[in-house]
Amino acid sequence: MMNIKDYDLSELKEIMVSLKEPSYRAVQLFEGLYKGAPDFMSVKNIPKTLLNSLLEKGFHEGTLEVLRDQYSEKDGTHKILFRLKDAETIETVVMKYKYGLSVCVSSQVGCLMGCTFCASAIGGKVRNLSPGEMADQVISSERITGERIGHMVVMGMGEPFDNYENLSKFLRLLHEEKGKNMSYRNMTVSTAGIVPMIKRFGEDFPQVNLAISLHSAKDEVRTMLMPINKRYPVGEVINAAKDYSEKTKRRITFEYALIKGVNDSQKDMEELSRLLKGMLCHVNLIPLNPVKESGYKGTERSEAENFALFLKGFGVEATVRRQLGKEIDGACGQLRVAEKGSLSV
Ligand code: SAH
Repeated sequence: MMNIKDYDLSELKEIMVSLKEPSYRAVQLFEGLYKGAPDFMSVKNIPKTLLNSLLEKGFHEGTLEVLRDQYSEKDGTHKILFRLKDAETIETVVMKYKYGLSVCVSSQVGCLMGCTFCASAIGGKVRNLSPGEMADQVISSERITGERIGHMVVMGMGEPFDNYENLSKFLRLLHEEKGKNMSYRNMTVSTAGIVPMIKRFGEDFPQVNLAISLHSAKDEVRTMLMPINKRYPVGEVINAAKDYSEKTKRRITFEYALIKGVNDSQKDMEELSRLLKGMLCHVNLIPLNPVKESGYKGTERSEAENFALFLKGFGVEATVRRQLGKEIDGACGQLRVAEKGSLSV
């Protein structure tokens, strides 16, 4: 079985040619899928005979099944649990901002990174998501909310740079003019800091925003929180980030989850500002969303605001991220873990 959403426009054209169909059928199909048809059998203006021969050839429409859709009245966040064709589950979050809706997409089922504060790490990595499965999270979210989604961040479950080929194709699919036509500047990819891929990403997608999860300026602390730091320590990550912004002229976002008593002392903030001073960057401070398994607690919001002021005083841009969807298990991977029953909710 082949997911039709894994194919880009030129590949769909080849498929149409092999079926002795005119290539504009590929454009119609692609447009139909990205403009909200729930599955390809309901794409309008394509003859049913053609759709049937696609089914016969083994293509399926790959539609995600909605298992849960938790909506927060308070801030307009949707937290969606989707079921894939092989019964694995993934999470997608739709957030409401002043500039419109933004969707947070998962890139893998589970994750290999093993960050000790993150729910997605529990159970390790199961598999990569395909380009179509990532695109479908955006398409299905538009259908669920009934609204246009103009921004996309890859900050859900998984490490996108551990699934680079599929990620790249997904970004291009979303950018395709005939489909969603999303501007690269409205897309953000977040990485735990896989150094060689940062360079490659800067070359391949200079217009897509890059976020790097830092969480500490100190190697001992970062290694404890993020095992990947053993392989790519703080210094290497920062050098890669500097090269990236020199080449692309783009401002990097550093994510910093504030964990009570772990990375939130005055000294931690001093070291962070020393590390980032003079760089073209922005720090996103996020009070940790506690995951029961880890035992960590989040820093108070008022203290987080103080840290932001402190960093700004050093000339390092910083903001405290709005915590969206907290009461609906908003942190990455929490819903899936809860569904599987290994987290007592
Ligand atoms: N693997 C990628 C992207 C997914 S996680 C990465 O590491 O960047 C997206 C962001 O959420 C990362 O900064 C991650 O560290 C953070 N995060 C994970 N669990 C969290 C939690 N419980 N509270 C706050 N932030 C969390």
